[in-house]
Formats: sequence, C-alpha cells, structure tokens
Amino acid sequence: MNNLYQNKNVLVLGLAKSGFYAAKLLNELGARVTVNDAKDLSQDVKAKELEKLGIRIISGGHPVDLFEDDFDLMVKNPGIPYENNAVKKALAENLPIITEVELAFKVMKGHFIGITGSNGKTTTTRMIQEMLTMNRSEGNAYAIGNIGVAASEVALRTEAKDDLIVELSSFQLLGTPTIHPEIAIITNITEAHLDYHGTRENYIDAKLNLIQNQTKDDILIYNEDQAGLKALLQSKSRAQLIPFSVHTYLEEGVSIKAHSIYFKKEKIADISDVFIKGEHNLANFLAAIAVAKIKNVSNRQIKKVLREFKGVKHRTQFVLEWKDRVFYNDSKATNIEATEKALAGFSQPVVLLAGGLDRGYDFKELIPSLKKHVKGFVVMGETAERMKHVAELAGLTNIQEEKEMIAAVEKAYQMSLPGDVILLSPAAASWDQYENFEIRGERFIEAVDYLIKKDRN
Ligand code: ADP
Repeated sequence: MNNLYQNKNVLVLGLAKSGFYAAKLLNELGARVTVNDAKDLSQDVKAKELEKLGIRIISGGHPVDLFEDDFDLMVKNPGIPYENNAVKKALAENLPIITEVELAFKVMKGHFIGITGSNGKTTTTRMIQEMLTMNRSEGNAYAIGNIGVAASEVALRTEAKDDLIVELSSFQLLGTPTIHPEIAIITNITEAHLDYHGTRENYIDAKLNLIQNQTKDDILIYNEDQAGLKALLQSKSRAQLIPFSVHTYLEEGVSIKAHSIYFKKEKIADISDVFIKGEHNLANFLAAIAVAKIKNVSNRQIKKVLREFKGVKHRTQFVLEWKDRVFYNDSKATNIEATEKALAGFSQPVVLLAGGLDRGYDFKELIPSLKKHVKGFVVMGETAERMKHVAELAGLTNIQEEKEMIAAVEKAYQMSLPGDVILLSPAAASWDQYENFEIRGERFIEAVDYLIKKDRN
C-alpha cells in the first residue's frame, strides 16, 4: 500500500462528502488526521463515525490554537474560499494545500480520464462511463469526482485495468499539483465563478490545471466551436489535440457532416441516432465519442449509448406530461449559458421558472433567449428583481414573482396552454433557498406532483 501519508499529520478542512472520504482514506494510509469544520458537528453521524476510527474532530469554528499542532498538509474542501481564516493561516505557514482528488490520485490505479469545463461535465462524464462500460471484458469504468462520488471513496478499490473517469471543477483543480490525465477533456469555458476566483483569468488558469502535467503522449479533447479556446490550448498544451465541433467538419477531430457523426474520416452514427435533445448534448456526445474511439469501443456499442442514454437527473430532465403540457427539471442550470442551451432545445413556447443565488450578474445575456422561447416567466429567489428587469427588457408581459416552489409551479401552469413546455432552469445557483440543486429539483418535481393531485381531488 502507498505509504506516502504514513505518520503524516494532516488537517482536513471541511467535512462534507469529500472531507469524510479524504479523512477515512488518510486514516487507512496511516496518517494522523484532524477534521476541522466551521459547522458544529457534535451531533453529526459522519463525524461520529470518523471519531470511532480515532480521527480527531474540531468543529463549530476554526480555533486560534488549531495550527499549534504542526500539520504537514491541508486537504481543503473545494468549496471553501481562499479568504477563509484557516486557509489564510495555512498559506501563511506554507502548508501545502490540496483538494481531496489530489489525495486520491496518489493512491488510485487505472487509466485516468479527466473532464472539466463550465457546463456539460457531468453529462459527458456519464456518457463516457456508459460507453466504456458496454461489453467491457475486464475492470470497471468508474465515474467519480465532482459528479458526486468522492475519488477517495473508491481509490483503494481501483485496479490497473480500470478506467477512472473523473469530473473536475475549477475549485478542485486549484489543489491538484500532480494531476496527470492520459485523456483530458475541456467541454467549454464560459462562466467564471467570479465570486470565488476573483477574475476570469484565474478561473481559466484553474481549469487549465487539468492539463498542466500532460505530455506529448497524452490526449486533450476540446471544443473547437468555442472562440479562442483552440489558440489558448495550442499555447498551453503539450498533448495531442483532438477537437470536436457541432458546426464545422473536422478531418482530424469529431464532428458532423451531412447529418452524420464522424470520428476523423470515419462515419460513426447518424444524428437521428441520438435520443436526448439539444445541440449541447450532441457536443457532449462528440467529446465522449472521441474517448470511446481512443479506447477502441465499437461503433455498434457507441450507437447503442447514443440511442439509450436518457440524460442525467436535473439536467433538462423530462418529468412528465400532463394536460398536454410537458414539465422539465433543469435545476442543474446554475448559470446563464446552461439556461440558454436548455431553452434552445425547445421548439414549443416555454413557461420558464428561474432565479436563485445572486452572484451579481445582470442576466442581460438571457434577453435573446427570453424573446425567442419564453411566453411566461416566474421569477424566484434572490435574483427575482434582476430577472424581472431583463424580462421586461425582453418585452415579456407575463412575469410573476413567487417565493415558494409550489406557488411558482401553480403560477407557471396558469400561464401555460396545451402544447407548452414548463421548464425549471434557474440560471442561478440554489444556495439562497435550498441546500443544493438536487433538492431544488426534487422540490420542483414534488410541486408538479402536488399540482396534479390537487387538480384530481
Ligand atoms: P456540469 O457538470 O458542468 O455542471 P451538467 O452536465 O451537469 O454540467 O449540465 C449542467 C447544465 O448545463 C444543465 O442545465 C445542462 O442542460 C447544461 N449543459 C449540459 N451540457 C452543456 C454544454 N455542453 N454546453 C452548455 N450547457 C450544457
């Protein structure tokens, strides 16, 4: 077993899922582990489980004497900003700060495929997993990382014959100095998480950490349709570049010609083979196909995934059809671009429910999509006023504000007519009102169910 962490004194900052598995992994590797969290964990089941393993828990704040203990390393929860006092203190003491995935990479065996980008990471990761799982003769295709399964959770189970398909956020990539994927994918770089990274340049640099240790023997798959990305990667990457495009036929990439999908000059499938909607999902598939072809997955198996893949929950997820209205849950649309893409996927009029955490954006970019697709707009959350304002600028007259999901869904239904789509696609994060986007999506689905039951009674 890897003895890199044997007897090392490690501070895990932030429990959550990644901190929990990082602490467990470190403990198994023989490190002395302290978990510190600003939240009071005295009644927390996970914290108790760690304590039973002999892990020290300090919670309810970051005490001033925390650093009197001589730590060798900090494993920081990706969501905790660098302005946090404990992080500042660690920086001042020159303590190496990594994220949980870096820890796992040191231990994991297998072929590492890393995926980052502003949008489409989870969907692409899942598509790749489906393709690499098809008729697999040995080993597993793990989908891990930002997708919701901590890399540290599976790290010790992995074997050399496995594929490790790792979704990586910009936050995670700030603490991954030795990361080295054999295949890297950049789906796109659009939004910037300015509240965390400060500047767009910092955000892009964080994303590019994914490719920092790649060599000429590695592969980088990227989105050719995104202006400026090719030039940026040509200057920053040493890997072999494979572009993908839904707009331009690429003899050396993955692209579309005459309604068919091509890998280099080889026809793989027809666009009509793809079940899920939206040009963005086609783009995600092109990236996934590049990986599948490199890994020698047959065209027949690729086609099977194109036909059967129904999308990932909370990403323009079909909920149900009722009274000739179709309800979709796109709670994962936490930025403007994602909502634009979701709207672009519909030819019917849409009643949109949107709004959430206020990150200071003015949402003006949404105006063309609102004009083109939206007939009624229910605004919610901290961004309600800003969204109302852009909806007015877009010329919408049917705008309502609601605080609760049930009332919002009811209002959306009242605005709709047979043949319409009712879509939750917030263009904002969920944390102003919900614990996470999954819970927001569940509340939407529950509200739709409630509406239908109420109507029946
Ligand atoms: P991520 O993991 O990067 O957040 P997801 O696959 O979870 O990406 O999708 C997040 C949101 O972005 C969803 O609303 C989805 O409809 C939209 N989306 C998915 N793929 C793309 C893409 N390639 N470009 C733009 N938006 C996308």
